[in-house]
Amino acid sequence: MNKEKTTMRPARGYGTFAKGQRHLRQHSMQMRPGHPLPRLDSDNFRALGSFLSDLNHRLDFIESYGNFKIDTGVEYAYSTLLAVRNSCYNISNGTLEVGRRQASVFVETLESRYLNALETKETLAEKVLEGILVMEDWVSDLETRAYAIRDAGLDTMNHVLERPKVVVDASMHKEHRARKSIELKYDSNIQEALLRAKEQGLIRFEDLPEPWQVNPNIRSGYRFCDGHWACIRSIMSIHNESCNIWSHLLGIFLVLGVAFHFYPQHMNFHASSTADVFIASLFFFAAIKCLLCSCTMHTMNSIAHRGLLARYACVDYTGISLLVGASIMSVEYTALYCEPISQIAYMAFTAVLSVGGVYLPWNPTFNRKDLAWVRVLFYVTLAMTCFLPSGQLIWKHGLEYTAAFYGPVSKSMLVYLGGAVIYASKVPERWFPGRFDYFGTAHNIWHIAVLGGIVTHYFAMQEMFSHAHNRAAAQCPAAY
Ligand SMILES: [Zn+2]
Repeated sequence: MNKEKTTMRPARGYGTFAKGQRHLRQHSMQMRPGHPLPRLDSDNFRALGSFLSDLNHRLDFIESYGNFKIDTGVEYAYSTLLAVRNSCYNISNGTLEVGRRQASVFVETLESRYLNALETKETLAEKVLEGILVMEDWVSDLETRAYAIRDAGLDTMNHVLERPKVVVDASMHKEHRARKSIELKYDSNIQEALLRAKEQGLIRFEDLPEPWQVNPNIRSGYRFCDGHWACIRSIMSIHNESCNIWSHLLGIFLVLGVAFHFYPQHMNFHASSTADVFIASLFFFAAIKCLLCSCTMHTMNSIAHRGLLARYACVDYTGISLLVGASIMSVEYTALYCEPISQIAYMAFTAVLSVGGVYLPWNPTFNRKDLAWVRVLFYVTLAMTCFLPSGQLIWKHGLEYTAAFYGPVSKSMLVYLGGAVIYASKVPERWFPGRFDYFGTAHNIWHIAVLGGIVTHYFAMQEMFSHAHNRAAAQCPAAY
């Protein structure tokens, strides 16, 4: 065994890996949602305790396949693992003080053999986490070698007899280790991003952990907050979500103004039945809920917790589904004002689709980054169902009447559609990455399109109600 101290970090392939390489590795990670983040020193010490107790079993396992050749590339790392096990073995795990002592011995042993291995980390807790990550790589590598030898049939006769059980145990063990290793690296990545955000305020796209990297064309201005309150406070500062948050926050007041000031003054309001007012109110309610959900999502999408990040994205889609559903129901309600059976049938169909739109986003596949077009397609299809009653209208009232009825609502549909196409195409930031980080992104344009769509639909809804009231006066006065 090489007894000399190694003064340089060992090359990747055995032991540690360079900063850039780690970054690349972390991109392929996945982790268990809801895993608690080791933010406190004590969390790191506890993680060390569990790593060391596992290390014992894992080295035993590797030693049981010890007839494989330990070449010069691996022997020093292997002997370091043994040294760490021996030095920490007599310090039993338990209280925080024991954890701290164990951590000191662990770091000392590792640094005595690899002088520069932990130099980038300042505190004991940071060194512990870095050390675990480094050693985790070594043990995984050794285990892979042991499995390879076993699978090639080079194990001893004793092992051959026990092979079926060992194979099952080993694969379960390997899977468990792989998951644990991924969680540790994920936590480390989040900690780094939080630290950077604390130091610099706003961070760059490449500083974000992988699940937060959504649009690579927006290069800077990212928040990364360690809790809800930090996210809420960030509403008042300037960052790359400011436009998205404020456009819809101010939009809520706009819709409230229309609902409580302009709508009651409209002549249709005075000619309306209770059901008419209910349908209009449903639209206003859905619009406000959509804007509120959007604000919530854009405020909270910097939270350093992947489970919550995914949940807030779902909240956003839930709001959009209800808005589209309520808008379509107002079209169906007025289109079939004098045909109550068809009216209820079409509205029920739309309601079912909207509930589907509320449920679907909670399915993880629906939210995949590469499925933006599928999401857009679903909502556009949902929106297009508002033209379903057109067949019945043409049959009963003719093409001209139908075209006149759908004229106003087609305008709001076009506004939504235009916004959705820009949203999915990520133009203009796709053409000029980094230039629209704070203002003018495709998402900002989509937000303005949503507001424009809401206002345009309000005017369309008033025209449709006028149409419906005229028809009711002439053909179905019993409706009043
Ligand atoms: Zn948005």
